[in-house]
Amino acid sequence: DIAMYVSKNQGRGRYNWFDGSMERELQTRNAIELGIRNGIPRGEFVPYYEQQIDLTSGRLHGFEMLARWNHPTKGLVPPDIFIPIAEEAGMIGALSLAVMRQAFVEARNWDPTLTLSVNISPTQLKDPWLAQKIVKLLVETGFPPQRLEVEITESSLFENLGLAQSIVGSLKNQGIRIALDDFGTGYSSLAHLRALPFDRIKIDRSFVSSINDNSESAAIVNAIAKLGESLNLPITAEGIEDEMIGERLRALGCNEGQGWHFGRPMEITEVRSLLAGKGLLPSARATDPSAEP
Ligand code: C2E
Ligand code: MG
Ligand code: MG
Ligand code: MG
Repeated sequence: DIAMYVSKNQGRGRYNWFDGSMERELQTRNAIELGIRNGIPRGEFVPYYEQQIDLTSGRLHGFEMLARWNHPTKGLVPPDIFIPIAEEAGMIGALSLAVMRQAFVEARNWDPTLTLSVNISPTQLKDPWLAQKIVKLLVETGFPPQRLEVEITESSLFENLGLAQSIVGSLKNQGIRIALDDFGTGYSSLAHLRALPFDRIKIDRSFVSSINDNSESAAIVNAIAKLGESLNLPITAEGIEDEMIGERLRALGCNEGQGWHFGRPMEITEVRSLLAGKGLLPSARATDPSAEP
């Protein structure tokens, strides 16, 4: 019956706001835009965290911050719904800084060996003040720039390489590291690796997740791993969904990995208990009488 169909559909595609007619789609889009505008000052946009693992030692290296919209009625909304609209509406900068601020405040309490990665979208890289805004946030929150990594995609470099170079230069002057995200997709060009002083390459999940069933994927991952080795750039594989894939990547010389095999993106309470369990929350360690001195 209809009620059951609706509830089933809501369970499966809770985020599918774009069903229905074109007119409805436009209304929905406008509603989302308004929701974003109101949601930023209300603190509805929050960071989630995905573990990044050193594949040789199995040690936790840090976390990638992934934005989520904690919508009052729709639940947790993933970024592919709100980021494109926030970009079009000129709100991605404010949204991103609001989420980053929360993550910096949290991450400054972690063990100092742990890093935080944040994603910067192509639209954000058109803001000449982006580096200054990030640095200001670091100073205000007290999170050390040396522990921050900024992930940018190749498509960001297309529209204004000069501006991207100057922003990246300012970030690097502060000690912030730069990763090339989703490498191998989009308008890939090896020239990009020379145009910017990257500190890391992240292999896109589309190659990683199919590595054991698709020989082309395996060949591409192998080539990227070799490239990283000869350029002396660490390689992170994203989208490691099982142990076999992780093993394969490690054998191919990938330094780091992340993906559902290691853990789904977590909310902050989960991060805190994970870190406390590993003794990587110095403040918790100090107050825990059972911890070693
Ligand atoms: P990304 O930076 O490539 O992030 C990785 C995406 O892959 C995340 O999706 C993550 O949840 C997902 N993922 C991780 N491991 C696995 C896996 O093993 N299997 C599968 N199937 N998926 C996995 P998410 O969180 O939906 O983010 C999507 C994209 O949204 C990100 O891609 C990033 O480009 C963008 N994004 C997320 N947060 C922010 C943000 O704060 N600012 C900006 N500008 N972009 C963001
Ligand atoms: Mg990323
Ligand atoms: Mg990525
Ligand atoms: Mg990706």
